Amino acid sequence: MQKKKLIYEGKAKKVFETDDPDLFIQEFKDDATAFDATKRGTIRDKGVVNNAISKILFELLISKGIETHFVKQLDARQMLVKKVEIIPLEVTIRNIVAGGMAKLLGIEEGLNLGEPVLEYHYKDDSLHDPLINEYHARALKIATDEEMDFIKKRSFEINNILKSFFDRKNIDLVDFKLEFGRYKDKILLADEISPDTCRFWDKDTRKKLDKDRFRRDLGAIEDAYREVLKRITT
Ligand code: 5GP
Repeated sequence: MQKKKLIYEGKAKKVFETDDPDLFIQEFKDDATAFDATKRGTIRDKGVVNNAISKILFELLISKGIETHFVKQLDARQMLVKKVEIIPLEVTIRNIVAGGMAKLLGIEEGLNLGEPVLEYHYKDDSLHDPLINEYHARALKIATDEEMDFIKKRSFEINNILKSFFDRKNIDLVDFKLEFGRYKDKILLADEISPDTCRFWDKDTRKKLDKDRFRRDLGAIEDAYREVLKRITT
């Protein structure tokens, strides 16, 4: 597959056009940012590890009937994906209180939520990805009612699949962020699923195995990302 023009460069990925108008190449970078890119750094081989983890998780979801933009892994840092039109909505699912929810509601991190909590954030860095609800999404025409219903249902299905998968790897899936995109007449899961976009805690020690190690200067970031990859491949 011929890589052509760079059409988007984000904080953690680059997206290239290909000679197929329906396909993009998504390349994972080692750059890490947090707090609206006010904190910046590099995590050695993060791109390689996140590409590998995302591939495994997309394939798992596809095997359970979830349609995603993933086509195939091309090399260590690149995957071939379908050219979706990203819906500017970040869907967060939370199983355990952490991060934004702990801060928003003044709750201590670690509280097990009896049922998953779904949040929508409007994907706009300049506004700091504000929390919105379905009424905002509808009124602002971010997505139609039908699309919102589908995205909500899909997100909970994805949570069920990922949560039980990580349970078997002795990892708590604390929370994660999903993005969806329009492709032909479908809505596909897009973006990535990795320790950059999920919170993973070791079940026994509660050790953080995700980007919070970078955000909170906890050290041993590379090892934590590799540990997630190791557990899901063994
Ligand atoms: P929180 O709202 O607690 O900051 O984030 C909830 C979950 O979504 C975390 O797993 C976090 O990594 C992920 N998340 C939320 N917003 C973003 C974002 O803009 N970029 C990335 N990579 N992950 C995000």
